[in-house]
Parts: sequence; C-alpha cells; structure tokens
Amino acid sequence: MPKSDRLALERRARLAAERLLELKQAELSAANRKLGRHALALTKQIGATQAEVATFRDEVATVRGENEKVKSDLHVANEKIEVAERRLWHSIQTIQDGFAFFGADSKLIGANTAYLNTFEGLEEVTPGISYMRILQILTDEGLVNTGQHNPDEWRQMMTARWVSPTPEPVVIRLWNDSYLKLIDQRGHGGDVVSLALDITSSVHYEEELRTSRERAEAANRAKSAFLANMSHEIRTPMNGVVGMAELLNDTDLSDEQRLYADTIKNSGEALLVIINDVLDYSKIEADKLVLHSEDFDMERCIHEVVMLLQPTARDKGVAMLVDYDLFLPTRFIGDPGRIRQVLTNLVGNAVKFTKAGHVALRVTGVPGEDGANCAIHVAIEDTGIGIPEDKIQHIFGEFNQVEDERNRQFEGTGLGLAISKRLIELMGGSVWVDSEQGKGSCFGFRVPLPMAEGDQPYTAELPTNLRHVLIVDDLPMNCSILQKQMQMLGAEVTTAASGSEALQLMDDTIDLVISDHHMPVMDGVQLATALRQGGWREVPFLLLSSNSNFARDTTTQNLIQGVLQKPVLRNDLFSKLAAMGTVVPDNKPLATPEVATPDTPPPSTAESAASETTEPAPQDPSPDSSAPRLMRILAAEDNKTNQLVFRKMVKDLNIDIRFANNGIEAVEAYNDFSPDLIFMDISMPKMDGKQATSEIRNIEGNSGRHVPIVALTAHAMNGDSEGILAAGLDYYLTKPLRKAVIHQQIERHVPDETQPIQP
Ligand code: ADP
Repeated sequence: MPKSDRLALERRARLAAERLLELKQAELSAANRKLGRHALALTKQIGATQAEVATFRDEVATVRGENEKVKSDLHVANEKIEVAERRLWHSIQTIQDGFAFFGADSKLIGANTAYLNTFEGLEEVTPGISYMRILQILTDEGLVNTGQHNPDEWRQMMTARWVSPTPEPVVIRLWNDSYLKLIDQRGHGGDVVSLALDITSSVHYEEELRTSRERAEAANRAKSAFLANMSHEIRTPMNGVVGMAELLNDTDLSDEQRLYADTIKNSGEALLVIINDVLDYSKIEADKLVLHSEDFDMERCIHEVVMLLQPTARDKGVAMLVDYDLFLPTRFIGDPGRIRQVLTNLVGNAVKFTKAGHVALRVTGVPGEDGANCAIHVAIEDTGIGIPEDKIQHIFGEFNQVEDERNRQFEGTGLGLAISKRLIELMGGSVWVDSEQGKGSCFGFRVPLPMAEGDQPYTAELPTNLRHVLIVDDLPMNCSILQKQMQMLGAEVTTAASGSEALQLMDDTIDLVISDHHMPVMDGVQLATALRQGGWREVPFLLLSSNSNFARDTTTQNLIQGVLQKPVLRNDLFSKLAAMGTVVPDNKPLATPEVATPDTPPPSTAESAASETTEPAPQDPSPDSSAPRLMRILAAEDNKTNQLVFRKMVKDLNIDIRFANNGIEAVEAYNDFSPDLIFMDISMPKMDGKQATSEIRNIEGNSGRHVPIVALTAHAMNGDSEGILAAGLDYYLTKPLRKAVIHQQIERHVPDETQPIQP
C-alpha cells in the first residue's frame, strides 16, 4: 500500500479515533455532569437525613427525659396514694362508729375495727364474708337483740332491707344494750358503704327525756289536782271565815269590832280572789277554760264593775267616769262573768295605780255589716303612774309587774293582765295599751259580740220643754261626756265649770240644770239653793252624785227634782229626763222601766238588783195549828263549821232545817224527812254529793217527784259544774256561801203548800 494511502488511512483512522475520543469525552463529560448532579442531590438528601436524624435524636432524648419524669411523678403519686390510703384507713379506724364496704356481690371488702368489734373477734368475719352470713352470725351468736321478732324474721327483714336499692336506716339493739344505727349507701357499681353509728348515748338520753317528760306531765297533772284540791281545801275553811264574818256583822258590834269583822271578811275575799286568779291561769294554761255564753246586758255589767270600784276611787279622790255610747245596743251574747272579770281587772288596776285625777271608761261599738254582730271597744283611761315604755309588753306576761319602787307599794299577783289578755283572745278579741310614765295609761280591748235578739234599750227623746240644758261640773271630761250625750238627744247645751259660773250663765232660756254634786267652793246642793234663792224656782235641777246614800236626804227639800247616782245608766238618765220634762217618750225603757219621781228617787243598782230577787210578800209570822207547814230543807255538809255557818245564815227564816253529815245520811234523810229543797255539799266522806244525788234521783224514779237539789261546792275547776249538773243536781253554788244567795234559792223553791218565807 502506497504510503499516501497508508497515510490517508492512518489519517482517517486517527480522525475516526479522534472523533471517537471526542464522542467518548462528550459522553464522559455528560456522564460526569449527571454524576455531579446526582452527587449533589445525594449530598442534599444526606444533609436532610442527617438533620432528621439529629431532630429524632433530640426527640428521643426529650422523650427519654420526660419518661424519667413521668416515672418519678408516678412514684411520687404512688407514695401519695399510699399515704392518703394509710391516712384514710387510719381515720376510718379511729372513728368510734363502724365502717365497712361491700362489693356488688354483697361480700365484705373492708371494715374498720369498730365494725369488726361487734363480732367479738370472730375470725370468720373478714373481707370476703357475705352480708347475709354476717346477719346469720349476729343471730346465731346472740350478738343482736331481735326484740319481738324471732331470729329468722329478723334476718328476713334485714335482708329485704339490704337488697333494696335505697336501704332505709335502721336501729339495731345489741346484746349489751348498746344501739347501732345502720346507714347503708349503695354506689354506682353496686358497692355498698355501710355505717354503723353508735347511738347508745342518744337513745339513753331520749329515754331519759321521755321519762323526764312523763314525770313532768305527771307533776303537771299533780299540780292541777293540787290546785283543785287547794281550792277546795282553802275555800272550805274560807267559807267559815267569810261567812262567820258576814254573820258577825249582823250582830251588835262596836265600831272597832265592826272594823275587825270587815277586815276579816275583806281579807278572806281578797285571798279568794288570788286563789281564783291562780286557778284561772292554770285552767287557761291547760286549755281547759270554756266560755259560757248567754244573753247579757253590757251596760249593766260595766256599771256593776264601776259601782264596785267606785268607793275605792272616791276614797282616793279619783273621779270615775263612764261614757257609754248613747246609741250602742246593750244586750249582747257573751260570757258576762268573764267580761266582768276583765273589766274588774282593768278598771281595778286603773284605780289602783291612780292617786289623783280620773279613771274614764269609754264604750263604743261598731255594728257589723250583717247587723247581727258588733265590735265592742272598751277603753279605760287613767291619770295614774303610767308604765315605762320598755315594760309595756312585759306586763302582759304571767306574774309580771313593773318592778320599781313605785309599783312595789301596790299589791297584786301580776296575773290579772295575763288572764285578761287570754280571756279576750279566747273571745276572739284583742287587748291593747298606751301609756306614758308619770302621765297615765289607757288599757283597752276589742271584742266581737253577737247582739242579743229582742229589744235593745230605746233611744230617748228629750221632752219638748227641755231644750236648753245647763251642765255644771268641775271636771271638764265629765262635762264633755254629758254635753255630748245631751247634744245627741238634740239639746242645746251650756256648760259651766263651777257653781258661780253657772249662776252667771243662768237665764230664762235654760230648761234644765244638770249638776255634779261634789264641786269645790260651791257644791251641787249649794248651787241649787243659790238658784232657788236667786229666783229660779221652777227650773228642774238634776243632781249627779257619786254618793249612793245621798239621794234620800236631799230630794225632799224641794231644791232638787232628781238625783242620779254616778255613773249614770242610760236608761236611768232617759227615765229621769222624761220624768222631769212634760213628755214621756212613747217607747218605754226596757231594762229599768221604773220612772223616778222627784220625791221617790230611783233605787240604786244594788237596790234594784236586790228588789228583783226578793219577791215574796211578808206575812204573819205566827202560824196557828191550821196554818200551812214549814218548808223542809235538808243541808248535807260534813264540815261542822260550815254547818254552823249555814245554820246561822238561815236562822231567821221560818223553815224546818235538818243536816246530814254525809251522802248516806242525806239519802236517809230524803226518805225520812221528805225535804222540799236540798243543799248538797259535793265532797263528803262515805258517799259524796253527786252519788247521793244519783241515789235520790233513782228513788224518785218515775214517781214524778223531783226535789230541787242545789250543789254547794268548793270546787272551782272548770268542768265541775258540768259533772255536777250531769249527776242530777239542779243548781250550782260555789263556796264561800252568801246569805243572800242561799235565801234566794230557798225563796225560789218554796212550795205552794208551805208557809211563805219570812225573815
Ligand atoms: P297586778 O295588778 O296584780 O300586779 P296585773 O297583771 O293586773 O297584775 O298588772 C301587771 C302590772 O302592770 C302591774 O303590777 C303594774 O305594774 C302594771 N299596770 C297594770 N295596769 C296599770 C295601770 N293602769 N297603770 C300603771 N301600771 C299598770
């Protein structure tokens, strides 16, 4: 081969090799670039992975740290739980009461020592034992006192209670007289927490309380019985004391002796008032006081109380005034005895605590809408010592008095207001008081009372010729009461505060002078004299006097045309006005129909009351053989003093009296003596008055005979009267006996065929 060819060939081969080299280099550099890229990516990836690994490593470290903490916390918590559990158990162990808890399967999970002690160390009673087995052990070992139940019944009862969703607490009694109160509380999962509270001391305390209460109640009953007895025991001899003093007063006595006899009587009566107060209070306390309602005259009731207290007030120079609403009805239905008792207490206190000035009683009333009832308001105002503000409520409590120097000089039990308040409340009313220390007090009460059916006193009309009235009274309040009343009757009124002022005011227009009696400087009688001497001869003169004996002395003197005793009853006033004028009202007064004339003064209340009760006319006291027989009276009374008192009280009567010493003798005397009237003591030995009366009523049988029997009793407890009347007695008198009342009973029962009773 030519050299050129060879050279060309070599060249071509070199070119091809160079090209291949270039190619391979290009490939190599491409591969290199790729590798570089890959290496970069890988490097990045390695970097990221390395970062992740670092984070993870950190996290692992953190978790490891936390884990350590949790572990230590857990340890601490476990320790705490152990401590708490230990404390809890310690506490549960130290409590005196039993504590246990049971699982839903009624198996014991745990119990404190107090709980387990009940079982006296029986090893069987440990966690795992069932409740029913525990009950079985309690009965089998005689640990529980099942009382009236037999052991099977008791367990059944206790099991039924245990399985109920909410077991009721139960008290069980153990053999040693200790008491456990079981309180079982069921939880959500059926677990039961069981408490056994030792209530031995409170059970014993309750027992003690019960016995103490029973003892106190027995003592209270004994107190009531004692009070009833005391009342009887004191009243019986008191009957002798007061009755004999009354009889002594009927004999010839020197002034000194009369003073002694009066003192004995008054002291005895005062003692009886105290006994009655104490009795009343204990009756009210025991809710045994019953009101006896009847138709009664309120105005008369008030009048009687005022008349009773008037002498005491007059002796002290205290004026007593009554302002009874002129148009208020007077007949109501209520318990007059109790209303009188309240009035006597309130008015009595007013008089007692007032040294000078007045005691004024105001009575008003508001009739109810139905017209059947009336709200009566009674206010008693005095100008006495008054009551400090902080004591006002205190005085209505029992035995409470205003404890100060001034008060201590007054006698009293401190029961009056407490009784009055309770009595008024019993009547559905209320009591109130207003008082200012040193100025006076005003006590009052309101009671709703039904108005009695029938006639109420009429409302007077002033006679037509008495149109202008001159009222003379030194006491402004008295003047204004009278003025108001006269004005309500339609009169023109002129008032004068003294006799001399009256003389100045006197003129021809005056048709009537109403004057107080006791006035300073010129009294009522002197005024009448002066008027007559001054030429006023015709004008009628009505004198109001608080002196009950005065009427008879003055009316004969032609000076005065009428005298009324203060306080004046409305009917008396109306009648007197009618008599002094020319026109008598066409509707007559009802309660006191007697119209007094100038020379026959009206009887005082006491006189008119007495005249109502003594009706028989006097007769010849010396009966001949054909004259009717004497009235036969049997008195059964075991007490010799009281027999004597009774005998003396009737000694002036023309009666045939026989005494029996006990019930048996009374029944015998009923057969032998055929009495027309029997006075029967209730408490007598051998046979009491009630039994004797029953025997007599048996003997009378259907014979048509019925001898009146009057119970004489010292019993003042409530309910006695009912028992006595139920035994067949017809009437009821409480000792001490009063001559007038005994005479009244005798006169009421005098038979037609016997001689009328003559003193
Ligand atoms: P007593 O009058 O028997 O002490 P009361 O219960 O009637 O008992 O009265 C209680 C007390 O109330 C009296 O002791 C007296 O302190 C006071 N008191 C009652 N009424 C009045 C009155 N009108 N004025 C002043 N004090 C009075």
